[in-house]
Amino acid sequence: MREVVQALRCDGKRIGFVPTMGALHEGHLQLLRVSAQENDITICSIFVNPTQFNNPEDYKLYPRTLEQDVSLLQTVGCDYLFVPTAADVYPQQSLIQFSFGALDAVMEGEHRPGHFSGVATVVGKLFNIVQPHKAYFGQKDLQQVAIIRQLVYGMSFDLQLVCCPTIREESGLAMSSRNKRLSEKELQTATILYKALNKAKQELTSHSVASIKAGVQTYLAAEEDVKLEYFDIVETTALQPVSDVKGLDEVALCIAAFVGPVRLIDNIVVDLHQL
Ligand code: AMP
Repeated sequence: MREVVQALRCDGKRIGFVPTMGALHEGHLQLLRVSAQENDITICSIFVNPTQFNNPEDYKLYPRTLEQDVSLLQTVGCDYLFVPTAADVYPQQSLIQFSFGALDAVMEGEHRPGHFSGVATVVGKLFNIVQPHKAYFGQKDLQQVAIIRQLVYGMSFDLQLVCCPTIREESGLAMSSRNKRLSEKELQTATILYKALNKAKQELTSHSVASIKAGVQTYLAAEEDVKLEYFDIVETTALQPVSDVKGLDEVALCIAAFVGPVRLIDNIVVDLHQL
């Protein structure tokens, strides 16, 4: 990969990069299409990164569909696919730990200890190997985008981050590789996450934050197969929870819940002047 990239850069090519963990779906394909439009060369990586899984079972059961992924990549203008092994990425145990202060003390960072340190480690390694001019991420993982923005800034990576919108099923369910682990019934049940976000959005101007949060808890508690992990209303830069939305321009509503055995996340960003 390093040799390929060196040759491309010598030729003056602009490189777009889409890091993924595979089991590709329309959410990933969108990032690849945008990259193909904006760059001479698009590189996708597929690597299920062990250091970002705080739950070994989640790592073991994470969907792996490489053959199908390769066929999909051929339809979206991807030029190179990088599929390193864990031994390629971690020839020896990495002792580096990243900490992002308040940014990783909330939501995913709080509920998945070590997760963002693992994400930052692997994304940093991939940026160094692939040396992209632009790297593409999904708003579906809102906190991850904020973390990687800090990584780029903090480590002076010479690249531009591009954040693309969340792609959803017709049912409203945010596309996710983990959806592949859900039964038909659970797929239907999982639509409650997006419904809860929209219900909360409707209440932003009329209810207090505390009562919106209590309302979401009650709404999800009615569904037997759903276990809410958190629902937070946060400001959209440092992603810190707010107790009142008055005076803010924009908030993000963020949710994480188990549907059956599978942990899902979703969020929407709300412009408070548009309500
Ligand atoms: P993953 O393979 O889950 O690590 O995701 C790779 C990239 O695709 C990340 O930047 C994700 O935020 C993005 N992504 C995953 N699902 C979606 C989606 N439904 N819409 C937009 N981007 C997504």
